[in-house]
Amino acid sequence: MKKMKKVDFQLGPNNKPDMHVNSPPEKKLWQKQGPFSIWYFVVMLILLYFFQTAVQVKNEEIPYSQFQQYLQADQIDQCIIKEKVIVGTLKITDKKTDKPRRFITVPLRDPSLANALEKHGVKYSVAVESHFLGNLLFTWIIPFAVIFLIWGYLGRKMGSAGMNFLNIGKNKAHIHADNLPKVTFEDVAGADDAKQELGEVIEFLRNPEHFQRLGGRMPKGVLLVGSPGTGKTLLARAVSGEAGVAFFNISGSDFIEMFVGVGAARVRDLFKEARAKSPCIIFIDELDAIGRQRGGPVAMGGHDEREQTLNQLLVEMDGFDTGKGIVVLSATNRPDVLDKALLRAGRFDRQIVVDKPDLTGRLDILKIHTRDLTLAPDVDLGIVARRTPGFVGADLANVANEAAILGARKNHEAITTADFEAAIDRVLAGPEKKSSTLSPEEKHRVAYHESGHTLVAELVPTGDPVHKVSIIPRGIGALGYTMQLPEKEKFLATKTELLDQIAILLGGRVAEEIVFSDISTGAQNDLERSSELVRNMVCTYGMSEKLGLLTFGKKTVSPFLGNEYGQEKNYSEETARQIDAEVKAVVESSYKRVHTLLTENRKALDGLAARLEEKEVLDGDEVEAIVKELISS
Ligand code: ADP
Ligand code: MG
Ligand code: ZN
Repeated sequence: MKKMKKVDFQLGPNNKPDMHVNSPPEKKLWQKQGPFSIWYFVVMLILLYFFQTAVQVKNEEIPYSQFQQYLQADQIDQCIIKEKVIVGTLKITDKKTDKPRRFITVPLRDPSLANALEKHGVKYSVAVESHFLGNLLFTWIIPFAVIFLIWGYLGRKMGSAGMNFLNIGKNKAHIHADNLPKVTFEDVAGADDAKQELGEVIEFLRNPEHFQRLGGRMPKGVLLVGSPGTGKTLLARAVSGEAGVAFFNISGSDFIEMFVGVGAARVRDLFKEARAKSPCIIFIDELDAIGRQRGGPVAMGGHDEREQTLNQLLVEMDGFDTGKGIVVLSATNRPDVLDKALLRAGRFDRQIVVDKPDLTGRLDILKIHTRDLTLAPDVDLGIVARRTPGFVGADLANVANEAAILGARKNHEAITTADFEAAIDRVLAGPEKKSSTLSPEEKHRVAYHESGHTLVAELVPTGDPVHKVSIIPRGIGALGYTMQLPEKEKFLATKTELLDQIAILLGGRVAEEIVFSDISTGAQNDLERSSELVRNMVCTYGMSEKLGLLTFGKKTVSPFLGNEYGQEKNYSEETARQIDAEVKAVVESSYKRVHTLLTENRKALDGLAARLEEKEVLDGDEVEAIVKELISS
């Protein structure tokens, strides 16, 4: 599997050498004349201070009583009375230097001192000590120096976490340098429509005159929409590899900081830089982080920041002239939560859907991700592709990688079909738990539960054939699973199909009930899923005869968590009661149906469960054989 290079989103001093930023980051004040100039200044001040005190130390310290003696003996020449000390010179000369001896003494509070000095004819003066330098140093310069030191240190430490205070407000986009691992359209399988559309955009950037010949205008914004893992980010990177123009890459969440206004400043900055470098592409990944609908309930009073950022983005997108050659490319897996203003003409007016890959798409993706792997000759990627419906590119990359790891763990020479099978299971349901802690009774129960699902799936008319049943515990909380394999991909579901699906989901619980006349907690997920299906049938798909072709409830989206956090109720209490009654009726009739199915085919259920308990895993053919044999008898 190709290793993706981790991209660092930091501008400034800790830029990695493998990406460049064309305009050098603005230098901060203290960086202007080399990084240490401020330190020269501080050191000089400290030296000055010590120099000043050093001069004072030269005086000989004498006790006050001695000072009095010298005074009485008329030996003091002159003195200066300071706030705390008296300094002065004696009439006696120092033998070594031949200069008058200097003294310093700490006086008592003595109001008669002035008179005494006068009496003995000493020249004296009073001085107010200047603390200016010391004050400056201790109350201003040293604290600031310490703060700068800590700040710089923290800044460097947290820089990679995007917390660099000094860089706040600076846009974090980076331009792809040529020596980043290059992704091209070759590395993206499937998604042919998306590639073609994006190719056109690139063409437009390279050759605007050609497209503007007839007065057409370039799209300002292109939005890639698709489920997570379908390769949107990969496509954008491929565009950057193919386009040959500057490419600014930033994630929506990079705009959101803890300070209001920073995001907006970043957007402004980003577009300013982009205008300077046009033609260019700005890629905003995970647009929904900033592009969520404005307004809505304010739960924490804190989405001002996002709104401001979004408004700035709208302003910038309106502000540039498409003739200048800037295209804003963006990706999201939640187009439903985006602000309507983003999607209107003149902004992200071109939307490209990146679909989950179909069979051939999956095969192509598998081919790409097994390019560098050693496969056993019998491995048929076509079969792997057929066994992975609903898998997206990221899942398939994961399957290839897991297969390689499992093969290596088993010391295989090459990756075998069995490795791929195991890898698919792992990706689907999590790793097997070898140290199973299921008691025999629990295992017995799980076997019946899964057999219930399996048998119903085989019996209902539209049920997809069972590909595999397993009662080996996997991942988090999955005690067993039943995997169905659709014969072909479906884009619509009919009412019959939905009802069958609900029946299959209920199969596990009902089997437990029939066999053990007691039920367990194991069906929680099944019930959640079936309840949601029923509710959607009634409220969203208009499939209930009683309630007719109406939809009920509007999903509201939390601006913070991004998930639906509630239903806006747009119906009366009376209708609510009807909905509940209808949902209950559908579930009950489904339950009855499943109960009848399983009771009538109790033999097949027992046979399946027994076989499953013994073998732990059954594949589709075995299931089919058992069911065929025991149903007819
Ligand atoms: P998205 O941004 O849509 O969530 P990504 O682009 O991050 O998905 O895809 C994740 C990974 O899945 C990619 O790095 C790549 O390895 C793989 N992948 C997804 N789609 C494809 C594809 N169409 N072709 C090849 N690899 C793909
Ligand atoms: Mg992505
Ligand atoms: Zn179940």
